[in-house]
Amino acid sequence: MRNLFPFAIGAAICLSACQNKPTETTTTTTITTTVSEADKAFNDWKDNVFMDSLWANNPTWASSQGYHKYDAVLPIPDEENVKSQLAFADWTEAKLKSINYDQLSDVNKTDYKLLENSVASTRFYENIFRERDWNPAIFNVGDALDYVINNNPAPLDEKLKNISSRLASVPAFYEAAKKDIRQPTREHTKLAIMQTDGLLYFFTDVFPDSLKASGLSAADKKAFEDNATAAKKAIQGYATWLKELQKGFNGENARSFAIGKELYGKKFNYDIQCGISADQMYQKALDRKAVLHSDMYALTTQLWPKYLKDKPMPKDTLAAIRAMIDKLSEKHCKRDSFMATIERQLPELVAFINEKKLITLDPTKPLKVRKTPEYMAGVAGASINSPGPYDKDGNTYYNVTPLTNYTPEKAESYLREYNDYVLQILNIHEAIPGHYVQLIYSNRNPSMIKTIFGNGAMIEGWACYVERMMIEAGYHQSPEMQLFYDKWNLREVCNFLLDYNIHANNWSKDQVMDLLVKEGFQQSAEAEEKYKRATLSQVQLASYFSGQTEIFELRDEMKKKLGDKFDLKAFHEQFLSYGSAPVKEIRALMVK
Ligand code: ZN
Ligand code: ZN
Repeated sequence: MRNLFPFAIGAAICLSACQNKPTETTTTTTITTTVSEADKAFNDWKDNVFMDSLWANNPTWASSQGYHKYDAVLPIPDEENVKSQLAFADWTEAKLKSINYDQLSDVNKTDYKLLENSVASTRFYENIFRERDWNPAIFNVGDALDYVINNNPAPLDEKLKNISSRLASVPAFYEAAKKDIRQPTREHTKLAIMQTDGLLYFFTDVFPDSLKASGLSAADKKAFEDNATAAKKAIQGYATWLKELQKGFNGENARSFAIGKELYGKKFNYDIQCGISADQMYQKALDRKAVLHSDMYALTTQLWPKYLKDKPMPKDTLAAIRAMIDKLSEKHCKRDSFMATIERQLPELVAFINEKKLITLDPTKPLKVRKTPEYMAGVAGASINSPGPYDKDGNTYYNVTPLTNYTPEKAESYLREYNDYVLQILNIHEAIPGHYVQLIYSNRNPSMIKTIFGNGAMIEGWACYVERMMIEAGYHQSPEMQLFYDKWNLREVCNFLLDYNIHANNWSKDQVMDLLVKEGFQQSAEAEEKYKRATLSQVQLASYFSGQTEIFELRDEMKKKLGDKFDLKAFHEQFLSYGSAPVKEIRALMVK
């Protein structure tokens, strides 16, 4: 039920008990970490009390993070559960109040702020946002089952006993769900039906094979089968119940998926933890869109004679820009060299960053490129896959999905999208110096709090910030590259605009499609996907633009403050040294 940002989940972190790795010699700016009494008390509480209590209170979330102590427990989503979440928030707050914030180290100060936000955020989600009233898709036991059985080093028999115990609670789980749901939205109901039907896969494909392979006693097997039968019946019953509910949707009895201006503003504050309001950020996104359009038109005018001199340039500026983008998209690699092209670009990025002294990279941690594993199939393109917080020895991979299973048309459309220019930007964002480098820096000051409650807007903001930073520094600089950077940046801006507009301004689908296709130069298939994503989530799409905007503003502020002494490399290293904290909290520590 929480927003888990994939990159925050990743950061490989040690608890203080395992900080016996040899320290790496780096030339990075490190934060002075004088350990005060307040730090000692705070560290001790975080590591030895808070984390385990958090997991005891959220067993499914714990399993997903690789903490398997509570794998046998499936919490029932009833009012008792709401009370216990709120009580946990009160307990956390009381502890925070007893800590002397001013005496904490910078790393602990940002941990403190993240916990403070999590307390306020829990109250908001449980008391006001109340997704359980209207989103039937949050009642999904898939994760609770999947994380026990997969990616878990425990012996199979032990895992099956835990699953059996969770299955025993499934009927009560769905009874509570049906009581919770008051006025669902059409979109989330549709999603819930699809996902609930998908759960049956466990009973047909996963459990029978696992049981056969196990060494469980006959009695344990029998118990498992009984629990599974009852659980399956409850899941099917929920699906039937949802389908009946769906039939009743005619006219106004379904709730709108749009959460409205007030809730959007609040959720924005808790999720993004930004220094300004959603409305203020919206204005900045509108301004940025205008700047990008005018820049893109100037570049199109400049490039027209080089590429399209035989054709008249359309009078309509947006049509002219689109024609130029279409023309330049022809420059792309062949489908069978997609992965090799990415692999070749990574050392180029490293060499450029070193030459321009943009940030210190860690040569002992080269990024491993691999084919996206089968179980993650469906994840298109490229992504960074880092180990969970309790899997500190795991590797970080750059997953690239080869285009082998694509039809020729789909592969061509994909390659045009990720053409020679955009592929460079993608590598900057995902890998170097984007997500991958941010992760390495955040792991130098291990904080479980930041791994679990890490700020998504800072994480995405950094990856977006470095795209422009690299081009400003001259990486593959050309008018063509600038045009595609602008298009890519426009997508980040449009993510914000559409998310805000459909939730806070009642925008229709046509308005969204118009924005993305006409003004954002996207393909209609991509735009359709984006619209669907925005009807099912709120605020996450705003994180890309919000995060980068705050980082650029902080950089300007530091330039002003330091004048001639401003050094880009030092700025980057200091910024990243605080870990995945909200930009406004990093700002408070850097500008002071
Ligand atoms: Zn082509
Ligand atoms: Zn990203």
